[in-house]
Amino acid sequence: MLTLFYCDHYDIPLPPGHKFPVRKYRLLREALTADCAIDLAPAPLAFEHDLRRIHDADFVAAFLDGSIDPIKMRRIGFPWSRGLVDRTLASVGGTLAATRTALQTGLAGVLAGGTHHAFRHEGSGFCVFNDMAVSAAWLLEQQPSLRIAFIDLDVHQGDGTAAIFAEEPRVFSLSLHGAQNFPFRKQKSSLDIEFPDGTTDQAYVAALKTGLAAVSVFGPGFAYFQSGVDGLAGDRLGRLGLTLAGLAERDRLVLSWMSARGIPGVITLGGGYSDPIERTVEAHAQTFRLAATFLPDFSKPRRTFSR
Ligand SMILES: [Zn+2]
Repeated sequence: MLTLFYCDHYDIPLPPGHKFPVRKYRLLREALTADCAIDLAPAPLAFEHDLRRIHDADFVAAFLDGSIDPIKMRRIGFPWSRGLVDRTLASVGGTLAATRTALQTGLAGVLAGGTHHAFRHEGSGFCVFNDMAVSAAWLLEQQPSLRIAFIDLDVHQGDGTAAIFAEEPRVFSLSLHGAQNFPFRKQKSSLDIEFPDGTTDQAYVAALKTGLAAVSVFGPGFAYFQSGVDGLAGDRLGRLGLTLAGLAERDRLVLSWMSARGIPGVITLGGGYSDPIERTVEAHAQTFRLAATFLPDFSKPRRTFSR
């Protein structure tokens, strides 16, 4: 069974009308509960020392104890609360746990995380800490010769991830995103592929193939797939024109690319802001149901790509 860690056992207290779609996490877990190919597990909390592998100690301490500058919280977009701290620690802890699981099974996921706008010294855009970067740093500590790829398919650039690993030759960051969308000051990923507003399935899929070919040349031994679905047509924050079928094709391309090359990895959530939110939930659920069908291909003996 495909193990997925969830975080909605910790609630983020938000004021009425806040634009973060906190409901989607519970709805997604509920949508996957009946799937007998999926095993849902509560995410454990990350420890402070996990966060400090990537994030500045002052930033970590100030967020955890609530003394963080309100200007920094405004950039993140959430009011500070003890509930937000627990939820954030679970989000990072879920991706760490999924990483450890994927080392055993080949593939695992987290129904949270993918918080790719978080930088070393500050958060941004609904992202406090960068769960994927923290987990990758743990992996590199365990296996110093490992090469890690980020396949970031959220409609917004993975700017935090790109900046964090800008000088790290063992990491390749691929980001496919809307050219006209947040963040408006882009960072430099290993490879950025930008789309004009309204881009549809065919152009997107062709660009993804080009991107994955570049990652193949890099030769990763582990991958993080940030599977944001805010590229879906009609998404409130998306600006692209992808269909559910196009997103399924996207997911199939990434998963078959990973499994064919024996690259274990973790699927994280990402953005998705459709109205109604059920449409976003359907797109996320589709990703994880498809991933569960790929799991047997990941469980086969693997080549290692460490160099
Ligand atoms: Zn996004």
